[in-house]
Amino acid sequence: MPFLKKLFKKKKLDIHQRMAVPVLCYHSSHIWGTAYSQNNHTALEEDLRYLLHAQYRLLSPLALALALRQGNDALLTGKLVCITFDDGMDFDYFDQEHKDAGFVKSFHTILSQNLLQKTVVGKVVPNAASTVAFMIASETARQVIDQGCLGKNQLCDRWWRECAQQGIIGIGNHSWDHTYETLDTVCQADNIKGAFHAINTYADADQQIRAAQDYLDTVTGGVATPLFAYPYGHAPDYLVNEYFPNYEKEHRQLAAFGTGGEPVTRNSNLWALPRYVCGQHWRTPEEFGKIFSDLGDRS
Ligand SMILES: [Zn+2]
Repeated sequence: MPFLKKLFKKKKLDIHQRMAVPVLCYHSSHIWGTAYSQNNHTALEEDLRYLLHAQYRLLSPLALALALRQGNDALLTGKLVCITFDDGMDFDYFDQEHKDAGFVKSFHTILSQNLLQKTVVGKVVPNAASTVAFMIASETARQVIDQGCLGKNQLCDRWWRECAQQGIIGIGNHSWDHTYETLDTVCQADNIKGAFHAINTYADADQQIRAAQDYLDTVTGGVATPLFAYPYGHAPDYLVNEYFPNYEKEHRQLAAFGTGGEPVTRNSNLWALPRYVCGQHWRTPEEFGKIFSDLGDRS
């Protein structure tokens, strides 16, 4: 038995020495009540308490991308976690009343009150925001999506610059229009909606990614975070294998995130980094804890 115990301990150590960084994804619009399973804000707050207790440190997603690009494994060992947000609702930044949940604290407020110790990445990435929110760039698309979902003008960009400058939530790229189903026309040659897999030509990619980045850079005054998250988690082969690696000067992204449901390791594809999505890969605090215990941590 002592031998087995020793073996188990060694396995845990190896997992942390080898880099394996879970990247989490939350949606601030996912609010159906106040319980953990009904409300991504409740989930984020509780998950941060778990991570704090388990002594995880927050790694900036930009630092993760740069360390992977530089092959800097030393920066990526230890108990690290990255946090991201998709779709860029006002609930990311503003505390507001919600019809089903009452007063809701924004992700920004929750992070401000529960911020984990940040990994020191100063030499590698000065001013990298602690987390990143991926935004839909097109104002028209945001208005139509808002009318279909909420009708309360909840997808504004008026707070993006201020938010990006504060360093808690950076502003990242979630495409031009998300190829969202309710739009009349989307930036895809055959107007295929609801499937980012259909973005498989240079012209479509240029609109969905490069043009979106231009807009984000303008709105934030040049402090947008150069990271991309695939709408619907769809990572088309053309983007992963051709557009992203071959046109870096044009799109200016440093990495792209999908929703693969496993930790990032040095073997992960820089243009399809996996994330765990709240509500999809975990729905309860127990399932959340299991993600981390499966990595070898039982603190
Ligand atoms: Zn999305």
